[in-house]
Amino acid sequence: MTQTYDLIVIGEGISGLACAGHARRAGLRVATFESTLFGGLVLNVNELDGYPGAESGTNLASELMQANSDAGVASIQEEVTAIRPAGSAFEIAAGGDYGARQVVIASGARLKKLGVPGESEFEGRGVSSCADCDAPMFHNEDVVVVGGGDSALQEALVLANFCRSVRVAHRGEKPRAQKHLAEKAAANPKISFMWKTTVEAILGAKMVEKVRVRRDGNTEEIASAGVFAYVGLEPNAACAPSGVGRDGRGHLVTNDAFETSMAGIWAIGAVRAGYSGLLRDAAAEAQRVAQSVASRLKE
Ligand code: NAP
Repeated sequence: MTQTYDLIVIGEGISGLACAGHARRAGLRVATFESTLFGGLVLNVNELDGYPGAESGTNLASELMQANSDAGVASIQEEVTAIRPAGSAFEIAAGGDYGARQVVIASGARLKKLGVPGESEFEGRGVSSCADCDAPMFHNEDVVVVGGGDSALQEALVLANFCRSVRVAHRGEKPRAQKHLAEKAAANPKISFMWKTTVEAILGAKMVEKVRVRRDGNTEEIASAGVFAYVGLEPNAACAPSGVGRDGRGHLVTNDAFETSMAGIWAIGAVRAGYSGLLRDAAAEAQRVAQSVASRLKE
């Protein structure tokens, strides 16, 4: 039997949870779908920059989950594999069959891999993508962070609390992170930068021991016990129908109201083209879409 909802939200990251909560409080029957653990990328971030009031990513996600549960949002632990238009509504294919009058895709993004030899072999043996989880294991060690955006510098600052040194390898000539993060990293005596540098391989025996980099045209090997790559994000957009417009990097394209090219399907947060990457913007667009969906369904 098909279970139907006014709104199905795909993804239990911060945007999805916030949107579902607002929609439920506006009186809609709402379900959220999640194929892994709720919380999304902020689960791995202890200190939420620019989002005062939240103790940590895990804490914020847990509070939203609890509030949604108390309000009567159904949380369904299944992967959505397809969204099919069916008249003026949608069929949602997951572990079972579901129906929704409106759909919000808030499926977020995943960290891009470096794609170099050694990266997958040493995963969990020196290669990590979670500084907040793994930094204590690198106490007094030398580590390399790859990337020059907000994630790379935010995580380099976390690692500097534990490691002897943190070298940030960035292919550009200056960081492109927000100014306050760049200034904080530059002022930290444990953090140094290698500009115009790309990682070619991660080397070691049982554990990571060295990183081979190409720096300003020359190859060198740097002793390092750990490698943390933060080289951008890839959108989790596979569940969106092929008719929904995407940009060149696979993000879902929306109008200013965050509705995609298919009426009734909305996209918010890191899965959509043009998302700022700031948590407060994710929360704001979640609220706005919940209000738009509620008004649409009352028309
Ligand atoms: P990002 O902003 O896309 O930056 C990725 C970085 O990795 C860039 O410096 C890029 O270099 C580099 N890069 C890409 N591919 C590479 C490769 N193959 N090898 C070496 N370097 C490579 O990604 P992000 O830092 O993960 O941030 C994602 C979003 O989340 C952003 O919108 C960001 O603002 C947001 N965010 C915000 C906060 C915060 O508010 N505190 C914290 C974390 C993330 P180029 O510069 O040369 O392209």
